[in-house]
Amino acid sequence: MSETTLAPTAETVAAGAGEASIYSKSNPYSATVLVNELLTGPQSEKETIHVEMELAEGMTYIPGDALGVIPTYRKEAVDEVLKALGFDGSEKVIEPVKGTPGNEITVREALTSKLGIGKLARGAVNQYAKLAGENVPAGLQALLGAENKAAAEDYVWGREFVDLATDFPGIVKDPQDLFGILQRLMPRMYSIASSQAAHPGQVHLTVRVVLYDAHGKKRQGVCSGMLGERAKVGDKLQVFLDENDNFRLPEDSNTPIIMIGPGTGIAPFRAFLEERQVRGAKGDNWLVFGDQRAASDYLYKDQFEGMQKSGFLTKLQTAFSRDQANKIYVQDRLREASDELFQWLERGAHFYVCGDASRMAKDVEQVLLESIAKGIKGTPEEAAAYLKTMKAQKRYQRDVY
Ligand SMILES: Cc1cc2nc3c(=O)[nH]c(=O)nc-3n(C[C@H](O)[C@H](O)[C@H](O)COP(=O)(O)OP(=O)(O)OC[C@H]3O[C@@H](n4cnc5c(N)ncnc54)[C@H](O)[C@@H]3O)c2cc1C
Repeated sequence: MSETTLAPTAETVAAGAGEASIYSKSNPYSATVLVNELLTGPQSEKETIHVEMELAEGMTYIPGDALGVIPTYRKEAVDEVLKALGFDGSEKVIEPVKGTPGNEITVREALTSKLGIGKLARGAVNQYAKLAGENVPAGLQALLGAENKAAAEDYVWGREFVDLATDFPGIVKDPQDLFGILQRLMPRMYSIASSQAAHPGQVHLTVRVVLYDAHGKKRQGVCSGMLGERAKVGDKLQVFLDENDNFRLPEDSNTPIIMIGPGTGIAPFRAFLEERQVRGAKGDNWLVFGDQRAASDYLYKDQFEGMQKSGFLTKLQTAFSRDQANKIYVQDRLREASDELFQWLERGAHFYVCGDASRMAKDVEQVLLESIAKGIKGTPEEAAAYLKTMKAQKRYQRDVY
């Protein structure tokens, strides 16, 4: 990218995501892995990685966008399913493709890259049972119908298709039926962790590798497992860019920003900060990061502390929940700075939250409302109205998953 395109104008910072590219979800780009390194330390309970890939000319993104990654299952997982079904993998099936007669592929290919054999859905259990016709085994029957919904939910939790096929064998006689039982394997989205202005021709991700034990077996998420285990430097990954206009830096680069990004929620904020730094944006930057332990889980520590030392990152708060007897989370750090938070909001700050949708985002919103209520000396309803206005002004944006 030339110096001219890096000119720090408000317009360039807020420009829409790049020129059209020939690559898309249906025509993904085969990106070479440039870097794949562990961010978490050996003592961590988590495995979080930093992955860098090269992008084709013309593939442009802006901070806030995501990258879609098309996963494949590891050979061992596919072998297990084939064994449970009694197929050797070379059997032919027709992959249905809308508007065409379909593609002939092997059942191994179907189980590797077309069908979701991970996380078991209740719908798959029902479809599987339908195939058994009159001969539904009693154990499977006990998982069917509205009256057995709780039992079925209990059964599918932590299980994968291989468990169903092993527990109730001999039901799938024709491999083509797998397309009626299993859902399509879908791409996974990852918030982009880099600024393209800072890293021309590259895209970076921050990925938590989903690893867990369930029902006596070690299991892994299909896409994060692929990135963590099999995406070696030099390997190719099928990817596409995904625009997210609901998560954008302020148009005016002088506007202060507050970013709450615990865990992998940090990814888009690394992109935001890199972008503002490379473009010389003058607006104040406040980052709140959190995870379990500082020693092992402080993602991009050197980079953020360097930004703080240089004065570019105006305020950096961290919350490490397991480093002391009482758990401290990002929302607690924010609460400690409640008055300052309100002052920043009054200066027009944009407020961003990324990461865990289940609890963190709600807790952070609660602190935000409390800080506003205190600041305006108003009621909870008045604080809610203030936040509503912020949302309408696109000054409160969330990217939670
Ligand atoms: C817009 C967006 C941005 C995202 N950004 C990021 C990002 O920057 N970084 C990132 O790491 N992720 C991000 N994600 C999440 C990511 O897309 C994937 O969902 C995640 O990597 C898991 O996918 P997977 O294929 O590895 O796991 P899957 O194969 O989909 O398996 C996940 C499933 O495993 C099961 N499971 C997991 N743990 C357990 C357990 N302990 N017990 C029982 N079952 C369990 C659950 O059913 C869970 O749904 C983002 C998601 C969205 C929508």
